[in-house]
Amino acid sequence: MRPDSLNPLFRPLSALKGVGKAVAPLVEKLVGGDKVVDLLWHLPSGRVDRRFSPPIDDAPDGVLVTLTVTVETHQEPAPRSPAPYRVICRDDTGFVTLVFFRARSKYIQDMLPVGEIRVVSGKMERYGGTPQIVHPTHMVPLAEEETVRRVEPIYPMTQGVAGKVLLRLIGQALAAVPEVPEWQDASLLEREGWPAFNAALTAVHAPLEAEDLAPENPNRRRLAYDELLSSQLALLLVRRAARSVKGRPIKGTGVLRGKVLSALPFALTGAQKRSVAEIDGDMAGDARMLRLLQGDVGSGKTVVALLAALNAVEAGAQAAIMAPTEILARQHLETLTPLCAAAGVRLGLLTGRDKGKARTAILAALVAGDIDILVGTHALFQEDVTFHDLAVAVVDEQHRFGVHQRLALSAKGRAVDVLVMTATPIPRTLTLTHYGDMDVSRLDEKPPGREPADTRALPIERLEEVIAGIQRAISTGSKVYWVCPLVEESETGDMAAAEERHLLLTEMLGPRVGLVHGRMKGAEKDAVMAAFSGDGLDVLVATTVIEVGVNVPSARVMVIEHAERFGLAQLHQLRGRIGRGGGKSTCLLLYASPLGETARARLETMRRTDDGFEIAEEDLRLRGAGEVLGTRQSGMPNFRLCPDPLAVQDLIEIARKDAEVIVARDPELSSPRGEALKLLLYLFERDAAVRTLRSG
Ligand code: ADP
Ligand code: MG
Repeated sequence: MRPDSLNPLFRPLSALKGVGKAVAPLVEKLVGGDKVVDLLWHLPSGRVDRRFSPPIDDAPDGVLVTLTVTVETHQEPAPRSPAPYRVICRDDTGFVTLVFFRARSKYIQDMLPVGEIRVVSGKMERYGGTPQIVHPTHMVPLAEEETVRRVEPIYPMTQGVAGKVLLRLIGQALAAVPEVPEWQDASLLEREGWPAFNAALTAVHAPLEAEDLAPENPNRRRLAYDELLSSQLALLLVRRAARSVKGRPIKGTGVLRGKVLSALPFALTGAQKRSVAEIDGDMAGDARMLRLLQGDVGSGKTVVALLAALNAVEAGAQAAIMAPTEILARQHLETLTPLCAAAGVRLGLLTGRDKGKARTAILAALVAGDIDILVGTHALFQEDVTFHDLAVAVVDEQHRFGVHQRLALSAKGRAVDVLVMTATPIPRTLTLTHYGDMDVSRLDEKPPGREPADTRALPIERLEEVIAGIQRAISTGSKVYWVCPLVEESETGDMAAAEERHLLLTEMLGPRVGLVHGRMKGAEKDAVMAAFSGDGLDVLVATTVIEVGVNVPSARVMVIEHAERFGLAQLHQLRGRIGRGGGKSTCLLLYASPLGETARARLETMRRTDDGFEIAEEDLRLRGAGEVLGTRQSGMPNFRLCPDPLAVQDLIEIARKDAEVIVARDPELSSPRGEALKLLLYLFERDAAVRTLRSG
């Protein structure tokens, strides 16, 4: 249970003073949460410094100043005159005019009595040589000057929430923070020069200098590290708990694998062998497997998945292989069918498109154990899908699946081993922060004989030349992908662009040009894809629906239109679709000028390298983590205090090691530091991790 001392922070944010019904949802959206604690993590993005108090004569133009002045005269405009209300003030060096548009005279007269001294703050401007301040933000008697002459944080704002309101709410949230014991290692604090949590939090919300806002600021880094450690510790605790669920040792006989391997027209790469051995080791152990297989497009993950599945089948159990899309599931089935036939292994397919009798028949065969390996899409999670004895689940292209779905699947059998495969090579730091609960295998070696695609960037003005080149490629038997970009704001816009391109290419190249896009029905899509991978079509115009996984060996040319709009990872994935059948392949990146700096760097990276891991690191550098992982689709953990993992890359590694040491030495978090760490876990809402502890 969460300690009482933290409870005030976990009240709904609407319980604070000054949040009306209308404002609460706006604030919640702004700070990304509906609890008081969420306000704490909403850090200032700037500051207003009102400490500069020059004499009037020395006050520079356009600068925020706080002046101490004597009120001299009021110039009230005539009724209904558009002129502003002016108040002339002075100090020893000169005069300043305070200007108010559409102001209530009474209010101004009360605030600025003639002959009195006032401390006023605002932006100094010279209007026709006369110093003036329009709508000063502060006008207080000398006795209250403390309330003015200081620095105030500026927070990221949203429409409908006044800055002052937000400031007051965050003030209340800060006041609700209890004094906490130190959960960080003393030597780390000393080495990094970090203050205690309470001090750091207070300081972060009261930036004085511009440096205080930088990610390198020690207060900010301390808090970022707190969050990172909570995340790494939580991942390790969850991982340990998941593994302590007794799995079942699965040890295949090797008979089916032997048959499949001899039916393969190639030998496994070293990386494939190593990954299979790692998987076998996991499956043979009695803890359950939770392994991530990272491998670039074309690195040969499918075979590894099949071998993992066969291991289970040989042991008399079942396997599931899940793909993120219908097309991919069917493609897997197609690839696996001849191999499984060679070994007498029974394959089944279940997708959202199977309905009625066909579906009932599949489900019946599945529960009876008449299907050994079930290939499918999300449909595999549906509640009425029951396996006879599911031992291993392979989830392909993980970033399209949420963590919840991963869990839902593993709930379908007794301690199901889970192998997650991703074609997005992930930078090491992100692997740690997002898949820290998994073991990792990397397919970092491509099957032999594959030449990297010749990649060129061309301005869209050279479209006709490109089409002529395509004509030549087709005449030598190549197939061509033509990718049109996704315009997020308007799906219909995409369709229109793709349809228009399809029309043009049909005019210039003849009827063997197909079109596939996201709005098409499944069966329609399949028909077009089939025609393209068979011999009905030479060119396939597509929106990014082809991004994931489709395999057409004779496709040797890819044109990507508006390549500047794609992310690096996406470009890399797309390019991986060509040249899969060996031989030379070409990738043309068509861009619209002028190219921005980031876009130029991306295209240059694409030209330079074919190494997915290198591209991933570069992508991270250019874009930031959320986009690399497609955070939004997958509901990945989102860091509040370190939105930019590059700035804290070093800390991620330290946090991982730190967490490993903690779990090794004090696995139940029962030492004094352990108790403090529990508080940390609660503070960052890693309650599930605390619950894995005996004392949790
Ligand atoms: P991924 O799913 O990782 O993108 P695939 O499993 O679809 O890659 O494999 C890509 C292609 O490489 C397929 O045609 C597959 O048959 C072939 N392949 C896989 N492993 C090897 C290997 N060791 N040697 C040669 N070709 C291979
Ligand atoms: Mg694949």
